[in-house]
Amino acid sequence: MPDARQKLLTGIFTLLALGALVGWYYEKVALGMLVAALIALVWQLRQMLIFERALRDGDFDAVRYGSEFWSQAFGRFDRLRARSLKHKKRYRRLLKEVRKSTNAMPDGAIILDDRFEVKLCNPAAQVLVGFDPRLDRGQRVDNILRDPAFSKYLGDEDYNEGIEIASPLRDGDWLYCRIVPYGENQRLLLIRDVTERVRLNKMRRDFVANASHELRSPLTVISGYLDALAGDPAVPDEWQRPLEQMRGQSRRMTNIVSELIELSQLESSGSASREADVDMPALLERVVSSLKPEKGGPILEVDIRSTAWIRGSVGEVESIVTNLVTNAIRHTESDGRVTVSWADEGEGAALVVADTGEGIAPEHLPRLTERFFRVDKGRSRAEGGVGLGLAIVKYALNRHDADLLIDSEPGVGSTFSCIFPAGRIIQASAVPGALTG
Ligand code: ADP
Repeated sequence: MPDARQKLLTGIFTLLALGALVGWYYEKVALGMLVAALIALVWQLRQMLIFERALRDGDFDAVRYGSEFWSQAFGRFDRLRARSLKHKKRYRRLLKEVRKSTNAMPDGAIILDDRFEVKLCNPAAQVLVGFDPRLDRGQRVDNILRDPAFSKYLGDEDYNEGIEIASPLRDGDWLYCRIVPYGENQRLLLIRDVTERVRLNKMRRDFVANASHELRSPLTVISGYLDALAGDPAVPDEWQRPLEQMRGQSRRMTNIVSELIELSQLESSGSASREADVDMPALLERVVSSLKPEKGGPILEVDIRSTAWIRGSVGEVESIVTNLVTNAIRHTESDGRVTVSWADEGEGAALVVADTGEGIAPEHLPRLTERFFRVDKGRSRAEGGVGLGLAIVKYALNRHDADLLIDSEPGVGSTFSCIFPAGRIIQASAVPGALTG
């Protein structure tokens, strides 16, 4: 190409020089050069017309060969054009593949823009939520998928997890919706039919609840007779030890059954009502003093720095405090200390139960709130632990929109922090008749 460019410039200069020479011969140098420039211009114009025709016909074969500047330029343009056509074809093929695979997906996939408006959806989305790609394109997704929980999920912009909502098309069906952000403020909404999972979960919950309820009555009778027998002087001495063991085991079973019933009640309803106001300072003083061991045990202190109350359920908050403090006492030596504090935390408030006990190894922390999880099964059973306490705490906190944070170091101690959001907090000054300050 540099050669061709040089050739073109040399040609133009030669033509101009020739024009000047002829003009000089006729004593009209300027006119000679002007005519030469006009000839050069007409020549370039002709090349442009040839280029335009080749573009129109899409055929560069007649013009792209040769070492001239224009032939080389045409050749280069034709090569670029062929390459871009090849890329276009490849992308089109790829796009077809992507479209075919998303169309074959059993899960719904909907592409949303930065205003949550629907741009594209696959056939599964049409079947699962009844989207109509022609009518619904450009609509806000929560105008089509009308569910308060889903609208809240969109608005909260916390997409680490998805949510389960009832199907808008079929009664009794459930959908799991999850937003995956990508690109520049774009979102992919994935929708999965989880009816079977929800149904199995409900069956499991119902089974546990029913079985626990059925076990409660016979257990009450057995415990009653065992208690009566324990105080009966007619029972021979050799029966006293087995009787005590039977009473211990029946107490343990009663505890398990009560905790299972409590857990299934917490699981079966959504959010704790905001109707009741829980006087946290008073509740903490009352519950903690009732849990103080009669003799021995670690120092138990309450540190109240906030007068805030909680909107929710007194029974559930009491259960949270009881479980956390009982655990802390159980896992702390008698020369240790357990501190229960209540303080403002940003717009919300935090209940913190900290101990200087044995602590928990980091690998156990993620599993602590699972049902029946115990770090040391044998020891926990001997101490009366079932492994349901922290599961109950987690569910009760969830129902109050609160988070549980666990921080622990073996040999140093553990801290369980329950963070209640502003929406659940009510300042004592706003509660009629509450003591403030
Ligand atoms: P459990 O009824 O056995 O106490 P939880 O669900 O309340 O069941 O607790 C699960 C496990 O977490 C316990 O078995 C115990 O090993 C551990 N754990 C809970 N709280 C503490 C604590 N404050 N210090 C050390 N370990 C704890």
